[in-house]
Amino acid sequence: MKIKISELFYSIQGEGRYMGVPSVFLRTYGCNFTCAGFGMPRGELSKEADNLALLQTSHETVAFKKYEDLPLVSTGCDSYASWHPSFKDLSPLMTTDAIVERIMEILPYGEWRDEHLVITGGEPLLGWQKSYSELLSHPKMAGLKEITFETNGSMRLNKDLRHYLLNWSLGRKDRGYNAITFSVSAKLPCSGEPWEDAIKPERVCDYEYVGHTYLKFVIATGQDFEDAQRAIAEYRAAGFKGNVYLMPVGGVESVYSMNNKKVALLAMKHGLRYSDRLQVPLFKNEWGT
Ligand code: SF4
Repeated sequence: MKIKISELFYSIQGEGRYMGVPSVFLRTYGCNFTCAGFGMPRGELSKEADNLALLQTSHETVAFKKYEDLPLVSTGCDSYASWHPSFKDLSPLMTTDAIVERIMEILPYGEWRDEHLVITGGEPLLGWQKSYSELLSHPKMAGLKEITFETNGSMRLNKDLRHYLLNWSLGRKDRGYNAITFSVSAKLPCSGEPWEDAIKPERVCDYEYVGHTYLKFVIATGQDFEDAQRAIAEYRAAGFKGNVYLMPVGGVESVYSMNNKKVALLAMKHGLRYSDRLQVPLFKNEWGT
């Protein structure tokens, strides 16, 4: 099987429960959202990604030949190239064998030790779900102990993957590993996505059956926090039991540093968890970090 891969790199997890853990990031191509509202006044949508897409497609030679050439954006989705159709040629379709070989090349010791795998996007729970069991069953992946799916929480987990992950966890959980985690970055109205498409409590409750699951809300304003509280109430009413993190908005340092302390204080005040975005102060959120 093949998976269209936007990025495959080794770094430190900057967000959520695995902050600071050395991790391989497998960023799949494609998303069901565009999140053009991030960093914009409410009701307005960012045009940054579309303007870059015009540059990419309006010349005979493309403007950006690889991910490292792509500019960072300060509004909208900070991983726009992982789903925008104009950048799809930057994401190769790779066999699961080729993906595993590349992972072995970037792991510091050429094998899994204490590193964790992050399957992210775009939205990693789109059609690629059907390829993950083949990828994870590769003999060179046997030493992997923990995986996080970074999802927007709107997609249903397919039956085969669900079954496979439950089996994959057996043995690893007995040895004290978390095995499977779902990091659900549910999209509030500040993303620009409609509530009814983004907040899907029953789907997230199903992830919780399969692995450790937490919610992570991106916060810029008091209104965002009010929206987060409304969403949390809906998830709890559906039976969700996991932790909730607040994370500051800001894919670029100037925006992040205006927000991080305020969001940390807000999380403390309400007894919620705070997630940093360590990739911003450490690595300026460059592609491949
Ligand atoms: S769900 Fe995530 S990857 Fe998809 S558009 Fe929104 S922020 Fe970007």
